[in-house]
Amino acid sequence: MFVKEGIIASPGIVIAKALVYEKILIEVNKNKVEDTDTEIVKFQNAVQTSHEQLETIRIKAISELGEEEGAIFEAHAMVLDDPEFVEGVEAEINDNHLGADYAVKIVTDRFYEIFDQMDDPYFSARAADIKDVGTRVLQNILGIVQADLSKLDEDVIIIADDLTPSDTAQMDKKRVMGFATNIGSRTSHTAIMARSLEIPAVLGLGDITETVKTGDLMVVDGLTGKVCVNPTSEQLESYEKEKLKYQNYLKELEELKDLDAITLDGRKVELVGNIGEPNDVAGVLKNGGVGVGLYRTEFLYMNSDVMPSEEKQFAAYRSVLESFPNGPVIIRTLDIGGDKKLPYLPMDEELNPFLGLRAIRLCFKEIGLFKIQLRAILRASVYGHAYIMFPMISSITEVRQAKAILLDCMKELDEEQLPYDKAVKVGVMIEIPSAAIAADIISKEVDFFSIGTNDLCQYTLAVDRMNQEVSYLYDPFNPAILRLIKQVTAASDKRDNFFTGMCGEMAGDPLAAVLLLGLGLYEFSMSALSIPQIKKIIRNVRYEDAKDIADAALNMETGEEILDFVQDSMKKLNINL
Ligand code: PEP
Ligand code: MG
Repeated sequence: MFVKEGIIASPGIVIAKALVYEKILIEVNKNKVEDTDTEIVKFQNAVQTSHEQLETIRIKAISELGEEEGAIFEAHAMVLDDPEFVEGVEAEINDNHLGADYAVKIVTDRFYEIFDQMDDPYFSARAADIKDVGTRVLQNILGIVQADLSKLDEDVIIIADDLTPSDTAQMDKKRVMGFATNIGSRTSHTAIMARSLEIPAVLGLGDITETVKTGDLMVVDGLTGKVCVNPTSEQLESYEKEKLKYQNYLKELEELKDLDAITLDGRKVELVGNIGEPNDVAGVLKNGGVGVGLYRTEFLYMNSDVMPSEEKQFAAYRSVLESFPNGPVIIRTLDIGGDKKLPYLPMDEELNPFLGLRAIRLCFKEIGLFKIQLRAILRASVYGHAYIMFPMISSITEVRQAKAILLDCMKELDEEQLPYDKAVKVGVMIEIPSAAIAADIISKEVDFFSIGTNDLCQYTLAVDRMNQEVSYLYDPFNPAILRLIKQVTAASDKRDNFFTGMCGEMAGDPLAAVLLLGLGLYEFSMSALSIPQIKKIIRNVRYEDAKDIADAALNMETGEEILDFVQDSMKKLNINL
């Protein structure tokens, strides 16, 4: 038995068996071979096995995700049959006496490079297919069995170094009960995904993949940030009790579901959810969110092997909008770049990707891609209350540029006689310090702000949000951050029919709720799971008291001092978490 402590990323307690998910490095043997016939047979057998695997995945994809997803695996099977691929590998074996593994690697890399260099997104997507297929054949030649997270026979806790958005996308969500990873933080994508799946997660555990074995019984305690491996029977009993206590607490919160988020003295605010895909809507509704404050549309792009078409996007946006006939749905335009890449969109390596071609900057470079998304959002806008939000805005010039492109799309739709909401609201994320400082200027061009504290902290404090070495500096309670938030709400208050929300993780932090309320925040957007707790806090405080707390905090010197003060004040006001 041992206990390790990491970063709390998603609340709850889970007890289940561990599944260590390690991406096995593939090493090929570069020595020449004599017996080429045996290598040819190895290759042909691996192709056959790959065909069988792909067919199984294709059928599963069609039944769970639809025809379009299934088609991806049909394309993979076609690569296996491609005479250029097959004959290329056989020629390397017969003519150059390479082993089957090395021959497959050489031919795969050759094809990958040719396709990857093509500008057309269709062909660059084929490059990703070729790589996938090549890797599959190689694994089959070498007998490497990579854990397949899409087919799990029992409930498990996934143990990994880190999880990419595509790892989490393909998971068997009914069987994955929790995450524990070596790296990551509260704002990393593994954390965000865990919260949207509503499963406990503890990240940043350092070496958990080395200390836990698949099959070990473990507890992930997302309330205290601890993981316990092979617990004693007393520990297990105590965790079972805590788990029950937490479940009862959740039941208590559930009773608030249909009540307004209104303070004791009558200030009503809006609690909405952050989502990554239409499936996440269910969680928002279940937890009493009245709409969506951040739809991270990049997941639609990342979970696809090809650029999602206008129709596909339209269908996704429409379905989310229709789920909230009375509430807002803020659709954020593509935020790719930084740590998020698309296999079918070639991008140059950057020295500082988070300061590079990310989000709106990329959309300005790829106007065709941007317009497809804007057209899809506009067309969907007639099915609900759509708000369009641009990410990574640093100045009013960018807002004007984005709005000009939006106007072009509106004109196109007018010409095509396709309907859209002509009064669709347009807003920006405030996640770059320059935008916060110039919020009064930027407000002239938009209808709302949403403060993205995940990036605002990273850029203001010069702290990489993924880097554990400097995570001690990543503090949303830092006075500089509070002052920026105040500057944004103050600019927003000066305008009519304008609101400021927050969709960074701070909005769902129970210790920040009173402070943010007092700073004048109107809309709080968070992982669905956090909504009930934040509602409970809002319903138990007076707005006047929250304002006093915020005013006092704005004059304090350190994040620590502010946090202590907020906690003390909450205790004095009898606001329990
Ligand atoms: C943010 O930066 O706070 C935000 C909500 O955006 P993301 O986490 O997707 O970068
Ligand atoms: Mg951001």
